[in-house]
Amino acid sequence: MAIATTNPATGKVERSFDAFTDEQIEDRLARASAAFASYRRTPLERRAAWMNAAAGLLDAEAGDVALMMTTEMGKTVKAARAEAQKCAHAMRFYAENAAGFLADRPADAAAVKAGTALTRYQPLGAVLAVMPWNFPLWQVVRFLAPGLMAGNVGLLKHASNVPQTALYLEDLLRRAGFPEGVFQTLLIGSDKVEKVLRDPRVAAATLTGSEPAGRSVGAIAGDEVKPSVLELGGSDAFVVMPSADLAAAAKTAAASRCLNNGQSCISAKRFIVEESVADEFEELFVAAMRAQKVGDPTDDATDVGPLVSEQGRADLEELVADAVRHGAKVLCGGERPDREGWYYPPTVVTGITREMRMFGEETFGPVAGLYRVRGIDEAIGLANATDFGLGSNAWTNDPAERDRFVDELEAGQVFVNGMVTSYPELPFGGVKRSGYGRELSEQGIHAFCNAKTVWIA
Ligand code: NDP
Repeated sequence: MAIATTNPATGKVERSFDAFTDEQIEDRLARASAAFASYRRTPLERRAAWMNAAAGLLDAEAGDVALMMTTEMGKTVKAARAEAQKCAHAMRFYAENAAGFLADRPADAAAVKAGTALTRYQPLGAVLAVMPWNFPLWQVVRFLAPGLMAGNVGLLKHASNVPQTALYLEDLLRRAGFPEGVFQTLLIGSDKVEKVLRDPRVAAATLTGSEPAGRSVGAIAGDEVKPSVLELGGSDAFVVMPSADLAAAAKTAAASRCLNNGQSCISAKRFIVEESVADEFEELFVAAMRAQKVGDPTDDATDVGPLVSEQGRADLEELVADAVRHGAKVLCGGERPDREGWYYPPTVVTGITREMRMFGEETFGPVAGLYRVRGIDEAIGLANATDFGLGSNAWTNDPAERDRFVDELEAGQVFVNGMVTSYPELPFGGVKRSGYGRELSEQGIHAFCNAKTVWIA
């Protein structure tokens, strides 16, 4: 895949970049290794000052950065600005909390026949981050803020369609004061990932993206006995029970499904509604999906911009066509508009059965599958009838039902009467084929640390 910015609203290639040569890759690896040797010894307060400086720059530059993201991958400019601000918040969160997260943890020394016993958190080295285009800043910051605060150095292989955002991040951290080599962007295709990951100067890997990419990176990391964190796709359930506030649920359902033009791993994708309220919810939900304003992503009034690529739209159309061929019904949307750019309208499909691809695959675009069930057992059974296990949403005002959803939904997160979102304060990650390991919170910073046991007689 060419390393280039192609504007999804026009289909035009705006900038192209040459992929790094082997010599350039070697140079960056050598710099990362040299940087780690000294950076790991920098006091935490200095790292925090640089991280806060990066947050300040990002806040100040959010408008320009947002336009760049919109041009590269089509998200609405208002969503892009919010993403930049969220990144600045995460940077400040780790600047403020890293000292607490990384402090020595004393253990019961007497119980282990020691004078002193504790856990000390130390950095691992250079971490390779293979990242996707859908949240081109946030996916990276989710790794770099905890990773760099822990004393690791970062090597970013970003998605080939967001090179300008990738280069901006490297420049941002340099301007904030981080030493040379602490955070570098590698302009490489996915074919070079194996070579970099197998290099002895790389200690670990983190990947967000599709299952095939995750399998490949996870397998190489395993073969090299290097730790890895994988955050892959999701097909989050959104369960609506009779006691729910249906108007609020329908509004949130449409917002979640259309988040990031429908291209988010934690967008709700399967809407599972108890049959006694299904007609009412369907009406409200379809109206809320129809009300989303599709259009120019640089216009602040737009809710849904174009999909990232022609291929992305073709894949989505094929999922809908397959469902229709097998008897599903399209309640709204379902037809690409006649205009330039890779637009696809908010779409609701009902009557989905197990033989349809939509039942088991992730719909990466604003297409919702609407299901009707009888009672909570069927709702939980259907919610869990997927290979994915990233997020889950449950809408109910019945405490007993709420407890069952919290307990029984097979997912890395369950949000009750609200929309699945990531917060630096909470762990983020999945189970089943949505991946392993956790990002964010204290767990996210420990993911790339050596939790060293210290025992002193
Ligand atoms: P990919 O998983 O292909 O891309 C994500 C990152 O992985 C990119 O940097 C990509 O590089 C790299 N990559 C791809 N294949 C490999 C490989 N074999 N070894 C190492 N690195 C690799 O996502 P796509 O953009 O192609 O999207 C395809 C599907 O993935 C989507 O439809 C969606 O289902 C899912 N996805 C999920 C995301 C999430 O947030 N969970 C985010 C993005 C996609 P390059 O760009 O150079 O190919």
